[in-house]
Amino acid sequence: MTDCIFCRIIAGEIPSDKIYEDDEVVAFLDIAPVNPGHVLVIPKAHYPDLLVLPEQLTVQLVMVAQKIAPAIITGVGAAGFNLTLNNGVVAGQAVGHVHLHLIPRFKDDGRELWSGQPYPAGEAAVVAEKIRKQL
Ligand code: AMP
Ligand code: ZN
Repeated sequence: MTDCIFCRIIAGEIPSDKIYEDDEVVAFLDIAPVNPGHVLVIPKAHYPDLLVLPEQLTVQLVMVAQKIAPAIITGVGAAGFNLTLNNGVVAGQAVGHVHLHLIPRFKDDGRELWSGQPYPAGEAAVVAEKIRKQL
C-alpha cells in the first residue's frame, strides 16, 4: 500500500468529492478549500512534482483545468480563478504527488496574493543572464 494520499484517493482507499475523471487525470475538491469549489487536478500516475512530469501529462493536466474551470466558476458563482502549482516543500508543496490548484475567486474575497517589488537598478539584467545561462 502506498503512503501517497493522492494515490490512495485514486485507488478509492480514501474518499473524495470527485468532479472529473478520464484515463489519465482526476479532479476532486480540496478538503480544506481556500474558497468553496477549490479543486485539485492530478495525474493518476504518481509523479512527485512538475519537473518530472512527462510533457504529455503536463499538457493534459492543464487541458483538464481549462475544461473544468467554467463549470467550477458557474457552479459556485465565482468571478474568476487562480491556477497554481506549489513545487517543492519550500514553495508550500505538502503532498508529493504533483497537482494543480484551481481556486475560484469572488469579488472582495480577501484572498490577497503576495506583492512584488521592483529590482534595484541593473539587477534584473544580472538575474536574467544567470537564468539564460542555465537553459
Ligand atoms: P499543496 O500544499 O500544494 O501540496 O496542496 C495540498 C492540498 O491537498 C492542500 O490544499 C490540502 O488541503 C489538500 N488535501 C490534503 N489531503 C486531502 C484529501 N484527503 N482530500 C482532498 N484534499 C486534500
Ligand atoms: Zn501519488
